[in-house]
Amino acid sequence: MCKDWTWDLSVLYRGFDDPQIEKDFAALQNLVADAKTQLNAGKDALETLEAVTDAFENIRKLSSALGSFASLTLAADASNEAAQQLMDRLMNFSVQSSVLYAALSRYIGELPDLDSLIEKSEKLKKIAFYLRRKKADAAHEMAPEIEEWMMRMSLSGGEAFANLRDKLDATLTVDYRGTQIPLAAARAKAYDPDPQVRKDAYEAELASYAKIEIPMAACLNGIKGESLTLIEAEHFDSILDQSLFNSNMDRATLDAMWTAIREALPEFRKYLRKKGEILGHKNGLPFYDLFAPIAAPGYVPPSFTIEEARQKLIAEMSKFTPDMGKFIDHAFEDRWIDVFPREGKGGGAFCAELHALDQSRVLTNFAGSFSDVSTLAHELGHAWHNRCMAGLPACMTNAPMPLAETASIFNETLLANAAMSAADKKERLTLLEGNLMETTQTIVDIYSRFLFESWVIETRKDHTLSVAELKELMLKAQEESYGNGLDPDIRHPYMWACKSHYYSVGFAFYNFPYAFGQLFGVGVYAQYKAQGASFVPKYNQLLRSCGSGMVADVAASVGIDVRSVDFWRSSLDVYKKQIEEFIALADELMA
Ligand SMILES: [Zn+2]
Repeated sequence: MCKDWTWDLSVLYRGFDDPQIEKDFAALQNLVADAKTQLNAGKDALETLEAVTDAFENIRKLSSALGSFASLTLAADASNEAAQQLMDRLMNFSVQSSVLYAALSRYIGELPDLDSLIEKSEKLKKIAFYLRRKKADAAHEMAPEIEEWMMRMSLSGGEAFANLRDKLDATLTVDYRGTQIPLAAARAKAYDPDPQVRKDAYEAELASYAKIEIPMAACLNGIKGESLTLIEAEHFDSILDQSLFNSNMDRATLDAMWTAIREALPEFRKYLRKKGEILGHKNGLPFYDLFAPIAAPGYVPPSFTIEEARQKLIAEMSKFTPDMGKFIDHAFEDRWIDVFPREGKGGGAFCAELHALDQSRVLTNFAGSFSDVSTLAHELGHAWHNRCMAGLPACMTNAPMPLAETASIFNETLLANAAMSAADKKERLTLLEGNLMETTQTIVDIYSRFLFESWVIETRKDHTLSVAELKELMLKAQEESYGNGLDPDIRHPYMWACKSHYYSVGFAFYNFPYAFGQLFGVGVYAQYKAQGASFVPKYNQLLRSCGSGMVADVAASVGIDVRSVDFWRSSLDVYKKQIEEFIALADELMA
């Protein structure tokens, strides 16, 4: 039985003194230089395309091995200097790779008949979608004479602002009851069972932002300003168009989703007001109680050892398909997972793919709650998604953000439904509350973030926003989204300083994919419920094809029309029913 609960990275390199690292780095540089030469050699188009796309596969393989080794090491040990140095070298070199990718788009963009070349080559047929997207990219490439300069300027501009943002966030201390504690520790108190702890921590958190609000606002203004410049250079009409283009998604899909979400907001407000009532509030939920734990009287939530969590996941996922159960067992046994929190290890959880090895690595901070088991189910869903893409050319494995959460949400839903069906009333109430608390974030809060970011960008076209303007827009967004669900006097005007998602240079509107992923995953689960075991192969094929088509086409492969408001309504109905049941159970058990 496996006893070491750290992950094994030796499949990549033996250590930072492994001579293979320098060999691979040199090989990577050569491959990029050679591919550039080939693109400019003026040879036969078919021969060039085949050779360059082959080279790209190897470039991805090497940069993924080097990048994964550095970033995964850092995730588990933030102070590892050798890993940081390798990361910096790779970041600097990434400009060269980006220039090469753009050169390929331009090359393909100028080909008179890409389709007939694809028809002639078995090799190119396998990556046809990638090549056609590259052709579409060509219309959005910068002029070659400014491209490398723009990218290098971004390293010292938007990217530097994003780094500063992370440092401000990581080093801010909060004066909590006379003691200085990290911001993350103060925010974690939002989950504390003691109401006074939650309130004090919230007030201390809000007060602490005054120390960093000016540089934070400068970071946000700098990044949004750069994005506005970039879309001009890349010929997009708007930043949202750019994000949708990069997500393989169309505006009709996004609009349909927001229409259904706006319709469902009143239901979520009912849940929030009921939660407020349970906690003794008359005027909606105060912000500091959004994450307050609620349990029926006399109910003690279960806790799990990691071995129990492993067995539970194997048992539940095997019911969907025994292959997934075996896969999860193997992931534990083969040390794919770094399980427990420790000093210097990053918080939260994620899954990283090692496509060339047909493996994944999962980081979690397991503490034994049901929510921690659910997090493992989520991350192992990502790992299963990666497994389903095994053997594909690497360029066909990039699931766009909106589809990237399909397998993770699906697994969470499987686990949650299994737990619900075995639960008595008291446990159901607790499970429902946990589920609705999180879903309120991915639906209601995400909608507020979308509104806020839209307004910031519109205003930024005219002038840089002051701290006061940012706070005002955030409160306005919370009003439109949460409405009377939240106490109007106790909201969070600094959420823009708290969430890192506004500060991504390459991907603005890093919010709608969360709502999409949640509701799409639930929609896929509904298909499984309707079709039973015959859905399993369709599901695995859906996951396999996430990087091989436009979002609407991939969804259509399992009979889902993401452009129809009704599809989104049907997913939201699942939560409407949960809200009704939560309110009924609360009235019965908490009165
Ligand atoms: Zn995820």
